[in-house]
Amino acid sequence: MKDNVIIITGAAMGLGLATAEYLAEKGAKLVLVDYNGEALEDAVKKLKDINADVELLTVEADVSNEEAVKNYVEKTVETFGRIDGFYNNAGIEGKQAPLTEYDQEVFKKVIDINLMGVYYGMRYVIPVMQKQNYGKIVNVASVGGIRGVANQTAYVASKHAVSGMTKNAALEYGRDGILTNAIAPGAILTPMVAEAFKQVNPDDPKAAETEYAQRNPTKRLGLPKEVATVVSFLLSEENGYVSGQTIAIDGGESNMY
Ligand code: NAD
Repeated sequence: MKDNVIIITGAAMGLGLATAEYLAEKGAKLVLVDYNGEALEDAVKKLKDINADVELLTVEADVSNEEAVKNYVEKTVETFGRIDGFYNNAGIEGKQAPLTEYDQEVFKKVIDINLMGVYYGMRYVIPVMQKQNYGKIVNVASVGGIRGVANQTAYVASKHAVSGMTKNAALEYGRDGILTNAIAPGAILTPMVAEAFKQVNPDDPKAAETEYAQRNPTKRLGLPKEVATVVSFLLSEENGYVSGQTIAIDGGESNMY
């Protein structure tokens, strides 16, 4: 990954930050995109601690805003001249509620960020990669992009859409040297998942976490670094022929009946 230019959305926390840390160690040039400016500043400090020489560009942007997406892509090209890899990761979970009771404003917000944000990202990054005749894209779906998850209709709809768009991008741009994949993490311990356990059991989120972990074949939740290593491979030159796949990173849980 040395000197590869990688854009990461949702880079200030959780899975985005963990991958930024992993790639900073490897000497990649990183473009960190997030709508939380304060958290972005903290992320920069963490990355400089890992590699003082790491080349970073930060762009505060909401991925559901098309102009903001166009802008982070333009800034990347102005600064680094190319885009080797795109980790299209920013997303939110929304609220837990059955389908008929789901708050429609929240539903639309989840779709705007998780589906449209991923779409806008590919829409502006792919033309740059086409000119290079090279590029690697990793979209973030979820196990909720492979199967149903009760009380998360908007999230599940948006993540199935991400998996579908990934297949299409792989079909349409493989000839331009662009490989597009999605990852489907299970429960990985990040701030987003900690918040979900608070919703499931506000009095004792830790109990909700322990109970959830028991369902997994490994009897534990995943760690952000265990996602970062897979993403790093998919974004690298080492990946020559994997495209159009939604790869579960879930300790095997999605195979259970
Ligand atoms: P997180 O909440 O810990 O971090 C998400 C980051 O994205 C934050 O820094 C947040 O500020 C940023 N972000 C959110 N909406 C944004 C927007 N509109 N524009 C710009 N930045 C935005 O979440 P996470 O657990 O790291 O999740 C990252 C991705 O992984 C999401 O797409 C999520 O759906 C997916 N995912 C996570 C898990 C898990 O177990 N953690 C499982 C499956 C899928």
